[in-house]
Amino acid sequence: MHKILTIGEILVEIIATEKGDGFRQATPLVGPFPSGAPAIFIDQVGKLGQASAIISRVGGDDFGHVNLARLEADGVDTSGIAVDPLATTGSAFVRYRHDGSRAFVFNIRDSACGTISLDDNAIALVQSCSHLHVMGSSLYAPSVVESILAAIDIIKAAGGTVSFDPNLRAEILESPGMREALRTVLAKTDVFLPSGAELFLFTEAKTEADAIAELLASGIRVIVVKRGAEGASYFDAETTLSLPGFAVEEIDPTGAGDCFGATFVTCWLNDASPREALELANASGARAVMISGPMEGASTRAELEAFISARKD
Ligand code: ATP
Ligand code: MG
Repeated sequence: MHKILTIGEILVEIIATEKGDGFRQATPLVGPFPSGAPAIFIDQVGKLGQASAIISRVGGDDFGHVNLARLEADGVDTSGIAVDPLATTGSAFVRYRHDGSRAFVFNIRDSACGTISLDDNAIALVQSCSHLHVMGSSLYAPSVVESILAAIDIIKAAGGTVSFDPNLRAEILESPGMREALRTVLAKTDVFLPSGAELFLFTEAKTEADAIAELLASGIRVIVVKRGAEGASYFDAETTLSLPGFAVEEIDPTGAGDCFGATFVTCWLNDASPREALELANASGARAVMISGPMEGASTRAELEAFISARKD
């Protein structure tokens, strides 16, 4: 059986309950919710019953506990999460603007997960996994980049595969070395999961069709373009397939892309057809936006199947 690994930030998310522009005045908040893009991704993998693990760091504080408890409850191997009693768990404050966009205040680089590294225990964990998922948002600090690139080499040398979701946030795009690291990861990617303009991150092509052709020619095996409420499209050398999104009320979009990606990658590794993988992933993203909180909308396989069949009647 495949075991899926990810490496990167674990955070708590604290959400402003009223819409508005950022955090320059006092505003009511709710949280802490377990979060961090790779953590949401791997929690969704675990909930599907797929073997899964994450390499990260938290502080010896309640924010770390919130995350460890949730990941363990959902079946994720947390042995690669180091607990640093002298550090503080990462955090993200998020507030929705009236136009639906989000403003973040992140504490990532200077938190416990700013110093993720591959010790002997973590290397043994990497060696036990057959697939690595990389979130572009995790390339925020040199030690994390180094850990991810080393893990890619170990996993690919053993015949494993790599998926990559750029998951870019304006707030962190200009981290030192991030662009170069994104380019390096893309060159080793088997399954690429961009949304919107992320497709064109490193292409010369300016249209979607040309960008897809360019990326497939460069050695990427599968590209899945996420289109929010519009659904998603699948591309490989033989197949092009678009499926519309499920019609749901969007309560909180955070985590949709991560749950979508986790479900797609899990299905892909288990040899699902492109249509089945895309449909289950669309359902996973749709269920995620219906529930407030980044990781709160992760689904079991039974929940995804019930959700889809209720919409086919
Ligand atoms: P994130 O903000 O989490 O990084 P993303 O940009 O990576 O998100 P999206 O395209 O927003 O990814 O969402 C991923 C998938 O979730 C979509 O392809 C779709 O299947 C589903 N989804 C997202 N928003 C909605 C919605 N409003 N209604 C139905 N499905 C949705
Ligand atoms: Mg995303």
